[in-house]
Amino acid sequence: MKCFYEHFRELHYISITLHKIVDKTGFEIVFCRVCENSLSDISELKSKIRGVISNKAWEAEKNHEKIKIGVSACPNACSAPQIKDFGVIAFIKPKLIYEKCMSCGECFRACRERAISFSFNNSNEKPTFLSSCIGCGDCMRACKFNAITGDVYFKVIAGGKLGRHPKFAEEVLITKKVDIVIEVLKIILDISIRAKRRFSYVKNSLMELRKRLIERQILQDR
Ligand code: SF4
Ligand code: SF4
Ligand code: SF4
Repeated sequence: MKCFYEHFRELHYISITLHKIVDKTGFEIVFCRVCENSLSDISELKSKIRGVISNKAWEAEKNHEKIKIGVSACPNACSAPQIKDFGVIAFIKPKLIYEKCMSCGECFRACRERAISFSFNNSNEKPTFLSSCIGCGDCMRACKFNAITGDVYFKVIAGGKLGRHPKFAEEVLITKKVDIVIEVLKIILDISIRAKRRFSYVKNSLMELRKRLIERQILQDR
């Protein structure tokens, strides 16, 4: 019979082996768990990202060499896309359906960003959405009269990292289309593979990304 020490060694060996297999993928991908705050069904995005990744040769033994991806179905951003090479955050642009609004003010109460202008002094008051809106959808969920709607967008961000010189990812573009999100990912991977470094560690990687997006007419030249 094996003693405790032998069991421990066996388990330790298995855990090391598994760790190495996981490391060999070269990617660290986090999709948020999609809870009741979700604004988008990210399943299409998920399968397309997995499809792109499975075709790319990128091996990384060490954690800091892995290309990091984070996708969140609302601005709460639980997958921490801000510190990833490539991040996606779903959000809405709230719109009032004027004739359905009963001027109850529940949307105003629900907004944690103080991004709604509303006065309780006027019985016919309608909410106005301010530029500080982050598109979380709390107002939409709070409205019992379904008077708030909103198209879903994806904010694509890139270049975030932790470590010795941490930085937040920068906004690259905003789109409704999953295929545009995937185009950005493909360029990010191409830049990384050519430079043999993960995107956030490549010099001027964001500049190069924007240049390529302009060449492909995905981004407008500013
Ligand atoms: S990012 Fe939003 S939808 Fe995703 S788990 Fe967090 S709160 Fe839920
Ligand atoms: S919660 Fe709905 S009905 Fe009430 S003020 Fe806001 S939009 Fe109008
Ligand atoms: S979407 Fe969120 S941040 Fe924007 S107005 Fe509604 S509750 Fe406020």
